[in-house]
Amino acid sequence: MLKQRRYLIEILTAAALIAAPFVLPLLGFAPNTVNRILVWGLFGLGFDILFGFTGLLSFGQSAFYGTGGFVAAYLLTRAGFPNVILALIIGMIAAAATGYLIGLIALRRTGIYFAMITVAIAEVFYFVEFNPLSDFTGGENGLPGVPTPSLNLGFTTLHFTTGWSLYQFIAFCYFLGVVIALRIVRSPVGAIFSAIRDNPLRATAVGHNIHGYKLTAFVIAAAYAGFAGGLLGVLQAFMPPDAFMFDTSGQLVMQTAIGGRGTLFGPLVGAAVWLSLQDFLQAALGLGAAWKLVLGIVFVLLVCFLRRGIIGGIVDLYSFLTGQRRAGKPVESEPQSDAAPASEIAAAPMPAPHRPDDRPSGPILQAKGLTKRYGGLLANSDIDFTVNHGELRGIIGPNGAGKSTFFKMLTCEVHPTSGSITFEGRDITGMNVTDVCQLGLTKSYQVNQLFAGLTVRENLVIAALSGLRGKFKLDLFRSIDSIPGLAERVEHTLALVNLTRRTDTPVAELAYGEKRRLEIGLALATSPSLLLLDEPLAGMSPRERVETVKLLKSISRGRTMIIIDHDMDALFELAERVTVLQEGRVLVEGTPEEIKNNSTVQEAYLGGVHGVLAA
Ligand code: ADP
Repeated sequence: MLKQRRYLIEILTAAALIAAPFVLPLLGFAPNTVNRILVWGLFGLGFDILFGFTGLLSFGQSAFYGTGGFVAAYLLTRAGFPNVILALIIGMIAAAATGYLIGLIALRRTGIYFAMITVAIAEVFYFVEFNPLSDFTGGENGLPGVPTPSLNLGFTTLHFTTGWSLYQFIAFCYFLGVVIALRIVRSPVGAIFSAIRDNPLRATAVGHNIHGYKLTAFVIAAAYAGFAGGLLGVLQAFMPPDAFMFDTSGQLVMQTAIGGRGTLFGPLVGAAVWLSLQDFLQAALGLGAAWKLVLGIVFVLLVCFLRRGIIGGIVDLYSFLTGQRRAGKPVESEPQSDAAPASEIAAAPMPAPHRPDDRPSGPILQAKGLTKRYGGLLANSDIDFTVNHGELRGIIGPNGAGKSTFFKMLTCEVHPTSGSITFEGRDITGMNVTDVCQLGLTKSYQVNQLFAGLTVRENLVIAALSGLRGKFKLDLFRSIDSIPGLAERVEHTLALVNLTRRTDTPVAELAYGEKRRLEIGLALATSPSLLLLDEPLAGMSPRERVETVKLLKSISRGRTMIIIDHDMDALFELAERVTVLQEGRVLVEGTPEEIKNNSTVQEAYLGGVHGVLAA
């Protein structure tokens, strides 16, 4: 069923491309305009993977468009290279290689700084094309005489010359581009791209090497740009120097925003709007250069009223009419009884890594002399801390005691000023959060860190993928459904956090308590051997707390967990031992009974009103 729906997009694209030469002339489209739209559409497929899917806004795509275009055009016009298709592929490879090198630099920064670096890179390429490399690129004259392709099929040779004849070739390239792009966005890598767009911090924390994946998206976008740049030369029989201009990058961004980012077809639709408006306003209405004023107004209106562009707007309208995305209203709190009984869940296969019978004994985690200094402030000071396999440890302490900082150091989110951390016999001090998660140590956050644009299932898939595939794998063309154990792990986690009924609900539509449970689910889906929960009950209503405590009890079976919480009743009910932190130090450690009756703890919490904790 899913497969049929998947191929539906490919089939519809093919049908539309076949129908276009018959339908579009009736609407007044010239073949050259259609070809130009397709070249922009192909250019935009890669850019949408980078911007729409991975959330990286680059203003430097002209650099790769120009690189691919000029390499192909140079081979064909100056180097006597006979094969147009091969030249286009070489241009694409050159652009991808350039993208790799540029990506290594640009991706060292995020957000506006990344965008600014890409602007600078585009400018550098433009300068280089006109000056040091003008002997190769023709400078401001460009490279004239780019030939059109032909394809030798053995029994006959197909020549693609101009107009609708060349359209066949460009349309085929576009179709191939769509098929490849669809495979990529439906692959595990595509899923991780979306996770990076929504929450890079959490994508890293659940064990993905996001730098590697960002670089992958950057190279893919550069490859698409390079091939499209080559096609531009073929289409115009001339490689124009303005392919390298910053305007080209800007036009691509605007077309993608108009058509709808994160839709793959948005850039094509945006290009159609842009080029037809240009033709109509410039030629038919004789507005000349003022046509951009009208375009600017159209752009502002579209961005204001259709934030997800034309295709995004159509998809939203369709979803609204069919109610597809609405999986019911937020449920404030689902009774525990709706889920499988806790005992059943805990006994089900997966993903509890250690069942009581095969559980190793002894310490799983040891921290020695752990200290964290923020300037003059000592957030954690000389903490010695050991947790054994299978233990459920609670950590309490007043606000500012250093609990969250301690967790951040254990998961290597922040590095200690001094001291060491050993996890399963291995010194993990100074490692990064991704590698530590891959080793089996992760945490749920005090403030939810979810993938807000995805559904509950998609969230858990992201986390489960890291355990099943490792921190980086280029399975770009593999269907996500074909990963062994993924569906089981996700289903099991859904049951553990009691969200089975909300599987296809977008995160934005979840009630707060459900979001908290999903937050725990994300950590669980990585299948950790040590799970840290930072205030899992924070912000919950009393009823939600009772239910979540039950849930935590069921989750804790066969697992090693450390829980920070302010709700001491809940923590004393859950934990076997409790560590009390105060002013960055371990105040005392013991069983819940010992802690309740400890006068130092009562002093710390209640200013010496003895006996209140125990009451
Ligand atoms: P808790 O979780 O027990 O409330 P925290 O670990 O969040 O305590 O904070 C301990 C102390 O460290 C606080 O005084 C806090 O202001 C300080 N602190 C935490 N993170 C930082 C940071 N990134 N920079 C500076 N000070 C910090």
